[in-house]
Parts: sequence; C-alpha cells; structure tokens
Amino acid sequence: MDTFELIEKNDHEQVVFCSNKLVGLQAIIAIHDTSLGPALGGTRMWTYKTSEEALKDVLRLSRGMTYKASVAGLNLGGGKAVIIGDPNKDKTEDLFRFFGRFVEGLAGRYITAEDVGTDVEDMEFVRMETKYVTGISRALGGSGDPSPVTAYGVYVGMKACAKEIFGSDSLEGKKVAVQGAGNVARYLCDHLAKEKADILVCDIYENKVKAIVDATGATPIDPDKIYEADTDIFAPCALGGIVNDDTIPKFKFKIIAGGANNQLLDENKHADVLLKKGILYAPDYAINAGGLINVSNEFEGYNQERALKQAETIYQRIQQIITISNERNITTQEASSRLAEDRIRAIGQVKQIYAGSSTFTGRLGETATRR
Ligand code: NAD
Repeated sequence: MDTFELIEKNDHEQVVFCSNKLVGLQAIIAIHDTSLGPALGGTRMWTYKTSEEALKDVLRLSRGMTYKASVAGLNLGGGKAVIIGDPNKDKTEDLFRFFGRFVEGLAGRYITAEDVGTDVEDMEFVRMETKYVTGISRALGGSGDPSPVTAYGVYVGMKACAKEIFGSDSLEGKKVAVQGAGNVARYLCDHLAKEKADILVCDIYENKVKAIVDATGATPIDPDKIYEADTDIFAPCALGGIVNDDTIPKFKFKIIAGGANNQLLDENKHADVLLKKGILYAPDYAINAGGLINVSNEFEGYNQERALKQAETIYQRIQQIITISNERNITTQEASSRLAEDRIRAIGQVKQIYAGSSTFTGRLGETATRR
C-alpha cells in the first residue's frame, strides 16, 4: 500500500519521519488524534525489517493509544514512536538525543515515554533535548513504576465485572486464576488477598510464583493448566494473544479481567466468540489504563494517591462498557471503541465551537469522572 494511503486509512493527523545518518537514527513518530489533548505514547525500539513494517506498527500502536486515553477519560490524544534498530546493540546517547530533538520539534503535540526496547535510562537522554517525556524515575520527579496503579485499576475493573455477573462486586470467596507473577500480578494479588479471594497463580519462573504464594497464600498452578482452571475469573497478566481458538474451548471462567496487553489474538473474532460463550471480557486497554493514568499524572507533579483515585474511575468505565454492550448487543470490545469514539467526537466538537477560547481546555492529568 502507498505510504499516504496507509496514513490516511485511519485518519492519522501527522506522521514524522526522523533520520540522521551521523548517529544512525531512523525513527517514525505517528500522531493519530489530538482532539482530546497532546498525543501521548511510548517509543518502541525494534529490528523492523523494512520501513513499511515500522510505519504499519507505529500507525497501529498510535491509534490504539487514542482509544486507550479516551476510554480512560484523560485529556490526551494518541501517539507513538518507533526507532528502527536493535535495542541490544544500537543504543547510544547520540541516537536518543537526536530523537529527542525531533520530539522537541513537535512542540508538545507529541509526548513520549519508554516502551518495548527502550527504558528509563534512554528516556533520560531524550529528556536532555526535550521536556515532552513522561514515565521518568521517581528520583527525577517522575511517576516511576506504573504497576501499582495498573494493578489497582485491574482490581476495580474486575469488581465491576463481578457486579454484573454475580450481582455483587465483592470478590470474597471468588476463585481467580492469575496468569503471570510479575509486577502487575504481584500488586493485583495483594488486593485480591485482602478481599479474601481464592487465588491461583502461575508463571514460567517458580521463584516469582513463590513470592506471591508466600505473600498472599495463593495456590500455585502449572502454566499449562491455567486455561482449564475451574475458577470464576481469569486475570491474564503476562502475555498477549492468549485468548484464541485453542484456549477458548478450555475456558470455564465467567469473567476475563486482567492487565496484559492485546489479550485477544483476533480482536473482533475472539471478542465475538467470548460473547457467544457467555464470558464477560473486560477490554484490556480499558481495564489496564492505570499505567497511562499514572504517567499522565506527571504533568501536574506526580502524586500516587491522586493517580490511584483516578484509576478508581476504571470501575465506572467498565460498567459503562458493559451497559453499552448489553443495550446494543455488541461485544464489550466494540462497546469500548464506541465509548472512546463518542467522547472524542463530543469533546472535539466542543473544542471546535470554542476554538480560540481558553475557557474550555481540559487539564492534563485529570480524568473525567462524569459523563
Ligand atoms: P512483568 O514482566 O513484570 O510480568 C510478566 C510475567 O509474566 C513475568 O513474570 C513472566 O515470567 C510471566 N510469563 C511470561 N510468559 C508466561 C507464561 N507463558 N505463563 C505464565 N507466566 C508467564 O510485566 P508486568 O509489568 O507485570 O506486565 C504484565 C502485562 O501487563 C504485560 O502484558 C504488560 O504489557 C501489561 N501492562 C503492564 C502495565 C504496567 O503498569 N506494568 C501497564 C499496562 C499493561
């Protein structure tokens, strides 16, 4: 497909090709939509085989960020950047500083952060050239590890699902199978244990499982057995693509509510299969938005208490998604898209009407709590 056709297919606002032969920089910044605010999204460094592959990835990822920010009720748009290169070999200070200058050139229309293949250290170099960077360390006044806030959002989103399916949002006595014993899972299990849920947990590393078992009294389960676990709730907190043709027939769960990204192998098809099977799926980008809420808090001076309070609104978002899904008989995945698009349209229109007025600009780092 022609480059312009690719860019126009999902109405991207702006795509910036960044190149510097001297430092070997080849990067693409994609701004999908800024109706709600500046486009925020991480910088991924990856060994893309062609520039077309990199372009397709950055266009897909930046569009995803628009939906995530909108559903989270944030005053942010969607953007993303990719650097073509091997994160294990090609990282230099020069590379990230030159990249930082391109970000600076966008004058705040795009705000970056770490992502797959980049880390806080790389972002420190980017920050030497631009202030439009988030997700920096707590020591430098940033928001640091987003996992506690992500996990809290997953926890309250899970409660909203429980309310729909069991008539009460209490998780006491509910059986929850947690896949992955990493950062998000660890904090999630703490919340679940406090509420006296019955936790099963797995990981490919035994020591990680042991840490959670010791802290919460959870029961370990073999990673291969997790899909057929006889539990009420499945909380994927490890990998993407785990809801697919092979795993769905094994599911006995009534709810899927977890922190992992891209849980459905095929978004539309598998959301539909889950709906038909009567399994309530909390769309991943809606329930795991706590991480984005956490970094967006840096704009007003980071405060974890405020970030957690904002992540609590995920409960209402999931409820809204469920209501739309029930009323229109569509999947929760589709309902979530509708919710995101409706908000973008409505706020975009208000901004157009009040163009030039400073009286209607939502503040960054604020989440909409009412609709
Ligand atoms: P993490 O790397 O700390 O934890 C992931 C865990 O999954 C690791 O312990 C890993 O060993 C385990 N794992 C890998 N393959 C597995 C398998 N086949 N079976 C069982 N366990 C397996 O990552 P994290 O920060 O906890 O993030 C978990 C997921 O949530 C990821 O998909 C991430 O993209 C997503 N997410 C995280 C955040 C955040 O704030 N950290 C925010 C949004 C989304």
